[in-house]
Amino acid sequence: MRLLILLPLLAVATAHVEHFEKRSQPGVSHPDPANLRPLEWGELNVISTTDTHGWLAGHVKENSYSADFGDFASFLSHMREQAYYRRKDLLVVDSGDLHDGNGLADATPVNGQISNPIFQKINYDALAIGNHEMYENDVAENVFRNFAPKWGKKYLTSNVFFKDSHSNKTVPFGNLYNKFRMRFGTRVMSYGFLYNFKGGANNTVVEPANVTVTLPWFQKSLKEDVDVYLVVGHVPVRWSEAQTVVKAIRAVHPSKPILVFGGHLHIRDFTSYDGRAYGLSAGRFMETLGWMSSNCIGKNLTVSRRYLDTNVHTYKTHSLAHPRQRFDTWRGRKISSEVTKQRKALGLTKVLGCAPQDYYLNRYPYTDSRSLLNLVVNDILPFSVTDKKRPYPSVIIINSGSQRFDVFKGEFTVDDTYIVSPFYNDFVYTTVPYKVAKNVLNALNKAPFQKRADDPFGIPALGDNNSTLTPGYVTKDDYGYGGDDWPHSAIPYVPTPNYVSSPLPSGLADGDLVDVAWLTYFSNLVGPILKTLDPANNYTFQTYNAGITTNNMWPIFVQGKWSNSTTC
Ligand SMILES: [Zn+2]
Repeated sequence: MRLLILLPLLAVATAHVEHFEKRSQPGVSHPDPANLRPLEWGELNVISTTDTHGWLAGHVKENSYSADFGDFASFLSHMREQAYYRRKDLLVVDSGDLHDGNGLADATPVNGQISNPIFQKINYDALAIGNHEMYENDVAENVFRNFAPKWGKKYLTSNVFFKDSHSNKTVPFGNLYNKFRMRFGTRVMSYGFLYNFKGGANNTVVEPANVTVTLPWFQKSLKEDVDVYLVVGHVPVRWSEAQTVVKAIRAVHPSKPILVFGGHLHIRDFTSYDGRAYGLSAGRFMETLGWMSSNCIGKNLTVSRRYLDTNVHTYKTHSLAHPRQRFDTWRGRKISSEVTKQRKALGLTKVLGCAPQDYYLNRYPYTDSRSLLNLVVNDILPFSVTDKKRPYPSVIIINSGSQRFDVFKGEFTVDDTYIVSPFYNDFVYTTVPYKVAKNVLNALNKAPFQKRADDPFGIPALGDNNSTLTPGYVTKDDYGYGGDDWPHSAIPYVPTPNYVSSPLPSGLADGDLVDVAWLTYFSNLVGPILKTLDPANNYTFQTYNAGITTNNMWPIFVQGKWSNSTTC
């Protein structure tokens, strides 16, 4: 029986009028305080992040998620203190994808050059590699040479390898596994898995999880005597790769607790595999901290789960022993000011123009004027991408997954260009008769879907809409509703076609010539489509409007069309 010391004033969860001190990033707003239920602590407690994608500044335009990485550091320091006084073990884990989605990570020559060292200031206990660490050779190399070594045994890559051109060897990015004992006695065996990702740079190798679990090292690791298995993986908790690992452990240990912390789909999720194995995904973009606590490891296992909105009210409510206790730590403040300084140095806060309204990626059909894709296809592609020197009209096609986030009314900054459209995809074109051009988009949307990155799942439309609540996550998982820490009204989620295009030129006859332009990224799909639509001709592709990419088409548009606005 473990000694239980209750702090009389811990877990004060009643609403209290509070004055928000100056913290987070300059100019951010904070949500009206809500009544939050105390977190349930168990013998082993885990805080998890995933798919942070460079959002270490927090969401400067969304108060629900306005805490930055410095606030997160202060929160963790108080939570670790709580764990110590409660004599409970506390783990902090991350499931990968640190770049592609925010200027702090992407505005440097190598993604993560500045954001990784800031990320490293958090004392994580276990980390996994994400697919976004592996698309580019130089990014993968930076992770292998500079990022992974900083974590030692805590960077877990059970099935992910780096081809080291210096040594000519293929070696794990980090550690295959890590066995450790926590302060209050919990003995943990930890692994890190990536889903069966096939799109990595040529200096990376992913071994299928179902192969890894048969290997001698993995089977041997299962013979160690531990209390709990921890799987930190860049894999959705319901995907077969996660189930494969759980089953492999279960085959040897019929009743040992297994805790899986996944990611990749950018959703909040929690699943029970068999009543003694559980998986949790903590959303995306530093909007969510996942919390899982487990009790009575060894006998009857009970777990609780919670998805925390990342704002300072959440952090203070759950971490402070007393509401009047000072929240900011020296370390937290230092991280916040480092983030501020680096954002400024990278020019991310520079205002390029003023968005006249909100534009949403997935809240409305893409034909709606409030849809971001509607703005992209009808205004941005024609303005920024169309090559006006060409003699023919054009139709320009992009994959909707190239656009990653909403644009909010008001200042549009350099940072927003990375947030909305982080990828540097360029365009190619070929000239075809109108009768061919008008059918390419439809054919593409019928072709097998080619994703660069995670499914832009956004926020699932579940639960009742209650207009007295602010819009946000309403999550249904294996325990039903109730996992979300803050009460919200559900945000609608409307799926979009995989490919969208600028309007077809009007008034043309079938034989008139049209430039069809698209992203180089999916040229392999367009080639066969043109062959099918027009078997008699052999089309070759050329660069379209050299220098224009999915990343810079935004600032070109904003500076051209939104810069004189007085709406900011
Ligand atoms: Zn991701």
